[in-house]
Amino acid sequence: MSFAETGLEPKLLDALSSAGYETPTPIQIEAIPPALEGRDVLGIAQTGTGKTASFTLPMIQRLAKGRAKARMPRSLVLAPTRELAAQVSENFEKYGVNHKLTMALLIGGVSFGDQDAKLTRGVDVLIATPGRLLDHFERGKLLLTGIEVMVVDEADRMLDMGFIPDIERIFKLTPMTRQTLFFSATMPPEIQRITDQFLHNPARVEVAKPATTAETITQRIVKVPPRDDRAKRDALRALIGHKDVKNGIIFCNRKTTVDVVAKSLQKHGFNARPIHGDLAQAFRTETLDKFRSGEIQFLVASDVAARGLDIPDVSHVFNFDVPIHSDDYVHRIGRTGRAGKKGAAMMLVAPADDKHYKSILETIGAHSIAELSVDVDAGDNRPRKAKRYENKDADEKPKTIRPKSKKAAELDTGDKDRKSEKRSRRDGDNNGRDGAVVGLGDHVPDFLMRVSAN
Ligand code: AMP
Repeated sequence: MSFAETGLEPKLLDALSSAGYETPTPIQIEAIPPALEGRDVLGIAQTGTGKTASFTLPMIQRLAKGRAKARMPRSLVLAPTRELAAQVSENFEKYGVNHKLTMALLIGGVSFGDQDAKLTRGVDVLIATPGRLLDHFERGKLLLTGIEVMVVDEADRMLDMGFIPDIERIFKLTPMTRQTLFFSATMPPEIQRITDQFLHNPARVEVAKPATTAETITQRIVKVPPRDDRAKRDALRALIGHKDVKNGIIFCNRKTTVDVVAKSLQKHGFNARPIHGDLAQAFRTETLDKFRSGEIQFLVASDVAARGLDIPDVSHVFNFDVPIHSDDYVHRIGRTGRAGKKGAAMMLVAPADDKHYKSILETIGAHSIAELSVDVDAGDNRPRKAKRYENKDADEKPKTIRPKSKKAAELDTGDKDRKSEKRSRRDGDNNGRDGAVVGLGDHVPDFLMRVSAN
């Protein structure tokens, strides 16, 4: 099927060909026609499938007729994080080049003043994170009674972040006559309940998850000693210093770890920057732009900050921490090996991670992930010097087991300060348990670590 056959108008077809897109993706083939008919759509698809265009394109076509009134946006897109919201707005700019639609982006970390000024002038498209949208609403700055189309993007992520009550409230503030386009990678019962309640006879469109064990992604694990973040940082440096690593995203489970790892890598001369929900929006945007352009080689990221980001050319993904939710593993490694390119995903696994590691194996339907042996060169951890990593089938056990520090143990188990986690979720990052910082990794390791198959 061609884009023209989906029913899109010539102006959009021109924009698509300027963007270099020739054929629609499966979700676009299935979602665009019912959306153009004005039907509700329930799209079960994750990022990387082309889902953003599958709601952006029909919205532009529908909104082309009519004009926005002050403080009464005509359409609303809700996204779980600032970055994702910003990405959706880039899609509107790209596909809407031949239209004169007005747009506002309501995200945290940006001044209310500028956002208010846009709302006052009237917008066709409002893209927002739920918290910031409700802040504006409560301050009497906007009305949602003029919404013709509402999109909920990455609903399951909203659920993880505790946004579902906000979403329900927002739905109730919009007119019953709206068209709803609702996207989620998975359909847990809470999401099903919302769609049953707020969608009217939706066209259900489901596209297969991109295979997690995609042939283009080489997956490896590296075993590390128990409760030893320093050893993990040493192993990480050995991995990222390898000559094949062009660039990479290093995932950590918590914001505090993101900061520690980024600082440690910088100290060791790596071109790395952190990205997580507590950092200023301007810094996050600049970091992403620089990473995309190649000015920054390594992004140290939390899940939420990186979720759904469209970064085309990542050679490696490193899981500094084993993700607690196995779905996050799928999302993390999906940052590499995109569009048929080769990619590699490596994960540091400590004994305490066993439970989560097993659940990842279950999710990806694998018995095991091949192990990699890492030689940490005790004398030099600078990036320029080549580090070695290779597949090993030797059967030695890790040689170094460091003494367990109490604070490190707290970080490992990750069950500290749940309140702070809840607080940080509202701000667009769900992994902010504020564990104590243990060391900064400027210590040259004095061990040689070999890791092996079980
Ligand atoms: P998404 O799943 O919306 O995050 O899109 C993933 C990537 O696919 C983005 O870089 C899009 O710009 C790109 N994309 C979307 N639709 C198409 C298409 N029909 N052909 C090629 N690339 C596309």
